[in-house]
Amino acid sequence: MTIDSPARTATPNAAAAKPVAWHSLDPQAAIEQLQARPETGLSSAEVRDRLAQYGPNELEDVGGRSVWEILLGQFGDIMLLMLIGVAFVSAGLDLFEGWQGTQQANLSLAEGFQQGKFPFPKDALAIFVIVILNGTLGYLQESRAEKALSALKKLSSPRVRVQRDQQVLEVDAKELVPGDVMLIEAGNQVAADGRILELANLQIQEAALTGEAHAVDKQVNLTLDPETSLGDRLNLVFQGTEVIQGRGKVLVTETGMRTELGKIATMIQSVEAEETPLQQRMEQLGKALVTGSMVLVVLVVVGGTFALGWENFRKLLEVSLSMAVAVVPEGLPAVITVTLALGTQRMVRRHALIRKLPAVETLGSVTTICSDKTGTLTQNKMIVQALELCDRSVRVTGQGYEPFGSLQPVDAAGQVAEPIPAETLVQEAPDVYLLLSACVLCNDAILQCDKTVTDRGKSPWMIIGDPTEGGLLALAGKGNLNQEEWTKRYPRAAEIPFSSDRKRMSVFVRTDQAGPLSLAAITGPAKVLMASKGSPELLLERCDRVQSGAQARPLTPADRADILERNNQLASKGLRVLGLAYKPLDQLPPEANNHAPEQNGSATDPEQNLIWLGLVGMMDAPRPEVSEAVARCRMAGIRPMMITGDHQLTAKAIAQELGIAAEGDRVLTGTELEKMTQGELEEAVGRVSVYARVSPEHKLRIVKALQHQGKIAAMTGDGVNDAPALKQANIGIAMGITGTDASKEASDMVLLDDNFATIVAATEEGRVVYDNIRRFVKYILGSNIGEVLTIASAPLIIPISQVGGDLVPLTPLQILWMNLVTDGLPALALAMEPASPDVMQRPPHAPHEGIFARGLGAYMVRIGIVFAVVTIALMVWSYNYAQGTNHPESWKTMVFTSLCIAQMGHALAVRSETKLIVEMNMLSNPYVLWSVTLTTLLQLALVYLPPLQSFFGTSALDFTELLVCLGFSALIVVWIEGEKLFLRWFWNKR
Ligand code: ATP
Repeated sequence: MTIDSPARTATPNAAAAKPVAWHSLDPQAAIEQLQARPETGLSSAEVRDRLAQYGPNELEDVGGRSVWEILLGQFGDIMLLMLIGVAFVSAGLDLFEGWQGTQQANLSLAEGFQQGKFPFPKDALAIFVIVILNGTLGYLQESRAEKALSALKKLSSPRVRVQRDQQVLEVDAKELVPGDVMLIEAGNQVAADGRILELANLQIQEAALTGEAHAVDKQVNLTLDPETSLGDRLNLVFQGTEVIQGRGKVLVTETGMRTELGKIATMIQSVEAEETPLQQRMEQLGKALVTGSMVLVVLVVVGGTFALGWENFRKLLEVSLSMAVAVVPEGLPAVITVTLALGTQRMVRRHALIRKLPAVETLGSVTTICSDKTGTLTQNKMIVQALELCDRSVRVTGQGYEPFGSLQPVDAAGQVAEPIPAETLVQEAPDVYLLLSACVLCNDAILQCDKTVTDRGKSPWMIIGDPTEGGLLALAGKGNLNQEEWTKRYPRAAEIPFSSDRKRMSVFVRTDQAGPLSLAAITGPAKVLMASKGSPELLLERCDRVQSGAQARPLTPADRADILERNNQLASKGLRVLGLAYKPLDQLPPEANNHAPEQNGSATDPEQNLIWLGLVGMMDAPRPEVSEAVARCRMAGIRPMMITGDHQLTAKAIAQELGIAAEGDRVLTGTELEKMTQGELEEAVGRVSVYARVSPEHKLRIVKALQHQGKIAAMTGDGVNDAPALKQANIGIAMGITGTDASKEASDMVLLDDNFATIVAATEEGRVVYDNIRRFVKYILGSNIGEVLTIASAPLIIPISQVGGDLVPLTPLQILWMNLVTDGLPALALAMEPASPDVMQRPPHAPHEGIFARGLGAYMVRIGIVFAVVTIALMVWSYNYAQGTNHPESWKTMVFTSLCIAQMGHALAVRSETKLIVEMNMLSNPYVLWSVTLTTLLQLALVYLPPLQSFFGTSALDFTELLVCLGFSALIVVWIEGEKLFLRWFWNKR
């Protein structure tokens, strides 16, 4: 398939084609230009050809960072910069020593080199190697993270409704091609540029593209000057903009990088890589430690030189360099990044897509989960079970969305009579017939039979669109009302769309061209029929007559009371109830096409003086897994709340069934909430867990009230108007399946399966991530403190005069080895620790607690001191012992080795705060065992393999020395385990 036109050549390189001013064409010209067929849509073969020609409808990820940017970014890290500084100083010292040697021996520099007066600058070289390695590792991690993010972006890529192969399908936005006909409605993000073919009240927010804050009212019958600016092209829609209101049928004109958004090449990133508060805090900590260590260097060097004399300057500089390296936890940032990345991956496996990284951490401290009802707590499979008309009750039977089943009248005593035959419905029960007609006409969903579904037990009947409306189409099918036939016979002329604020929708259809099955027999000679459906209370207020059989009669106060009573009866069974009404009209009211909210209830409001048809009660069963998830929430100290647009009795029945509310608990309605001051609401949110008939702005008030009470609130939402509440909530959660793009854009997390249980699972993962971060922060920083204290105490304990040579127990190289390898590997393994059994049996951690809270800071300092005391004791012993041997320098290797081995024991012990090593299941996190074994072997290689010995400045330990190292290291583990036993005893005693 090729498209030949003067403006668009049929080359695969369509980007090179001259752009068309689509706004200057009328719909027909645009259709011809693109060889499109709006009635049937393109065929699959045409779509394939056009995809090959134009490429997928994707924007190149221009917002992402280039390879070089990521790589250079690694070396901007303050810790690495400090290491580079240390390497330069260390190299300078070696050069200085060489220069001094040549001076003393009266040699030229070249002779000095030849005679080996210049020591090999291995510390400096090794530091450079480590800096480069660290940078490369960081780069690999980050580019993997960027890849993972773009994979996540694809997961959240929007779906679009298109007309293809003579039917309406839902496809991935990236599969759109020029010539496709897409159907857009409120809440959608427009997926490609296009020429509008049809619309109803279409309003689009184009701020993303034009910067214009006000939504734009779109129009069809306009052809504009080719020079018209972007913001004034009222007959076009643009990729990346948002449909605020109404619906439209749009011919796709440009896709991918050829869209206006593609042209200005600003991608709206759907997944944001923000730093988490913890990462920010760690960065600040890193900066503080680097500054602190610099101050320490200056103090030790200046103070030491002053006290000990200029001749010790070099030794003091070496000590201080080691300390500077020891203070900084070089391995920590990488481990945190990996842990967060692993956490988000585990969450995706459990169907929660994290859009903003800080959410991973915040999830661990969530105290309240505010959830929608429909679709999140319930299955969102609407099955109509009952109809309540003026003087008729009907029981509805059938399976799922299958449009087959029966309509059985029920008498006042509850006796079920023979079903009304569909063929005679119009004569036998004209009111039911009219109600079913309103169900089909006032409907935007599509009921389809997918014959390719061959799974046993799975129904081929499925809906595209809102399940509530799908349920109504299935109901209409039971009376033989076929959607396709009806929408052709009674074409829609205008509509006032549904929104969660209005809680109702109305359509205006033309009845003057209808054939034999005309509704005129019941509705009279109307040219236009208005059909409305929505919240029964709200719709009833707008009715002044009621349909009784084939006649409409005035609605009396007794009728109203009766209808509301029946509504309550259905709702208290947990059914979702909709009211239906209609009105015959002589002509289309001018307000129908541009209905403004301020018209509500005014004389010009078309939604007035309606004729009440009846109530439809639908079963939307709770999701089976939610009861257990609610119970887990409660055990975890998290309060589940239901905030729904549905009726209070429906909400209450479902909330009680799920355990969110108890018998007798209060339900607060939107109307009551409206009358409350924010102070009163704050007081109420502490007690009330179910909110019904609320609007999106009430959700915002509820979140604010909860937050004012110090709660950390997660809030779900799916509509366009939910965006402010989602942004305000600590964790805004959007629905992956039914959610609008606007809500997803505003959210921190998207539920890929729309399921409440997934929120609880994500919360659990958030807690695991936080626990693991605390675990390895404890592990890494505890030993850092130990290292610093040991190095600092060496010059005090071992008299300089005796050592003669250097007095630094640990060289910068050895410290880097410990921080990055012997600490780093087990820390990574600790990041993989599975959830502890009690992770959802304890309250959430306090919202604003720092990472060092709950004893972590004290633990680090305590363990650091224990490390230092034990290592210093070993240093004293080993120094004296080694002086009597033929390898007097081995005391340093002993200090180095025992610190490493003690950390191995620490890694095993730190896995649990309460269980002893022997009580833990080693196989529940085999990575710890593997990393400990591997690291121990590497350490032994450093001590015993000659090339490594000379590089790392170690010497082989004899058997006694090795045993002593083990013994001293064991002391540290004994202390940690002793602490656990003491705490157990202490808590038991209390
Ligand atoms: P939740 O807030 O838990 O998702 P909900 O679906 O009831 O529940 P909304 O979508 O805000 O919340 O709907 C509010 C009310 O509007 C519904 O209870 C119903 O009475 C009415 N309603 C829902 N969908 C439609 C629709 N497609 N057409 C007309 N009225 C509707």
